[in-house]
Amino acid sequence: MTTNDTFNLECFYPNAMNIISSSINGGLIQLSIKSNTHEAICPVCKKKSSSYHSTYHRKVQDLPILGKKVILDITAYRYYCDNIECKQKVFAEELEGFAGWYRRKTERLEDMIITIAVNTSCEGCSRICSHMGVDVSGDAIIRLIKRYSKKKESFASEIIGIDDWAYKKGHTYGTIICDGKTHKPIDLLDGRDGQELKKWLLNNKYVKIITRDRASAYAKVISEVLPDAMQIADRFHLHQNLLNEIKDSFSRELPNKIEISEAATDSQVEKVKAAEVKKKSVD
Ligand SMILES: [Zn+2]
Repeated sequence: MTTNDTFNLECFYPNAMNIISSSINGGLIQLSIKSNTHEAICPVCKKKSSSYHSTYHRKVQDLPILGKKVILDITAYRYYCDNIECKQKVFAEELEGFAGWYRRKTERLEDMIITIAVNTSCEGCSRICSHMGVDVSGDAIIRLIKRYSKKKESFASEIIGIDDWAYKKGHTYGTIICDGKTHKPIDLLDGRDGQELKKWLLNNKYVKIITRDRASAYAKVISEVLPDAMQIADRFHLHQNLLNEIKDSFSRELPNKIEISEAATDSQVEKVKAAEVKKKSVD
């Protein structure tokens, strides 16, 4: 961006939406947004229609702005379906790729929540989100991830990543499977003993490369079901292995106490004194 480039808030929203007004009240920013579409596709017969029926309002939460919660009050259109053979006479336009039907959060906000959750835990994510200006409970995050993984039923990537994952740290753990290319979660399994993973792999035998943690339960199951699949230790766990190894070797090789000899101390004192004398003479 050069110094001459400017932007307004609208550039962060789909072209089909105009910001009509905005307000800020303490920690809450509200934006009124109106759809400017002239046609929409019927979800049943997939035919285009440009016959307006009415408008409707939806409130959805969006990405926060500088730690303030953002609520979008969206006015969108209902259209008549012009296809006389279609059973759907009137339909509401979908805000494609922005906020799906019946969703109370924008897709980009859901993506952010999922990204934080898979790198922490549901409860941890909920606390982080709260500080950022996003309302979402740990239970709602679990439902969100489950729904997201169901959407990926047609998944067919040959590269996956597997790791254990905390519903609640120290209490309940599951297994998360991510697409190795997109890094997005594709399924969430109960437990981390490998039993559910075994069933999953039996239904997805096209997988060829699996990055995983050091858990032997996963390694055993993968070898059983997909003996030809390549198993790769993921970067995080390689770092962890290396650090543990360094720590162990220090504990093994170095004594518990290391005494600093008097001679060494005296010699250091002499050096400091000599340096001070030299500095004074220069001054
Ligand atoms: Zn239709």
